[in-house]
Amino acid sequence: MVSATLLGQAARSCCVMDSLVSTFTSKQGRAWLSRSGQSWMRNVDMVFSTLSSSVNFSGGKVSFSSDASKRRTEVSSGPDWLSITEVIGKESSSGADFKLPSEVKLVEVGARDGLQNESTFVPTDVKVELIHRLADAGMPFVSPKWVPQMADNEAVVKRLKRKPGVSYPALVPNVQGYKQARECGVDEIAIFTTASETFCKKNTNCDVATSLKRIEDIMSLALGDGVKVRGYVSCIVGCPYEGFVSPSATAKVAKKLYDMGCYEISLGDTIGVGTPGSLVPLVNEVKLHVPVEKLAIHCHDTYGQALANILAVMQTGVQIIDCSVGGLGGCPYANGASGNVSSEDVVYLMAGLGVKTGVDLPKLLEAGDFICKNIGRKSSSKVASATGACSS
Ligand SMILES: [Zn+2]
Repeated sequence: MVSATLLGQAARSCCVMDSLVSTFTSKQGRAWLSRSGQSWMRNVDMVFSTLSSSVNFSGGKVSFSSDASKRRTEVSSGPDWLSITEVIGKESSSGADFKLPSEVKLVEVGARDGLQNESTFVPTDVKVELIHRLADAGMPFVSPKWVPQMADNEAVVKRLKRKPGVSYPALVPNVQGYKQARECGVDEIAIFTTASETFCKKNTNCDVATSLKRIEDIMSLALGDGVKVRGYVSCIVGCPYEGFVSPSATAKVAKKLYDMGCYEISLGDTIGVGTPGSLVPLVNEVKLHVPVEKLAIHCHDTYGQALANILAVMQTGVQIIDCSVGGLGGCPYANGASGNVSSEDVVYLMAGLGVKTGVDLPKLLEAGDFICKNIGRKSSSKVASATGACSS
């Protein structure tokens, strides 16, 4: 049995967080970290030693070792202020203790999952601009909102200035939705189902077998049209109605979607109840049926576990991560719950790990600020709050 000295850790963390919060201030729209003496160095050492083996600051080099007894810090003279882009490490590399890929593919779902949950109407212009900004920040996959009964879907999709190399998959629920999407020029789609019978009935008004049959009908049209299909499995470890969902049930559904021809399967912890303790065994089970390079992880931060889950799942070989700018999106099944893991926080984590994303963090922060201001919602990205990027 593994145990930890929780009291000691909690006391240390509180001290770290208080100190970091008090040293983060916003200056000229960028974030700066004040360097005020040795206590600051100790805190930064504790926080960042878990992320990078080496962090280079403009004023001097700080080296971290994952072995606390060997940890040393040396700071030479330099400016009093350090930019956050320097903090996350120009020379950071994958820590020796982590088995990590050198790069990951991020799939931005904010424009879809996120805005879907907003009760206020989001103007077409704002949606289009958000998608453009996300593509501009380097997101390789930006999923536009697509709900067939909504009047401005067509307008959004038609007005997109498609950036070469960026995919804009639209979520379609049935054959009719597929046909409408195609008429608007959609060339990549996403479909969704779940392993939980009750969730399926409440969400799509049919049982899992019927849902899979509907998907099969969409798939046969899509594959005939040369349209790529991404599959989503929701409630992979837990369901708001049934509770625990077994890894074998989720794996079975994931395998079906893969066998039908989905090029990628996104495993969604829709209610965010998973921890590395449940997600890693789940992914390991799914890997027995679907090649790991075809798997994506889709975490909600409902219980604050999303980043830990992503880091753990990456170590099983998953290299595709769904995320949402500003953490947009809620969870209608848990009171006061936060939504998807925020893209900004995922990009920051990857930068600290030295894992390439191709995403420009400042531009992404601006996109987050843009959408949060426009929908009057506070960003749930910690990075956006810490850097003062989300002013709403
Ligand atoms: Zn989601």
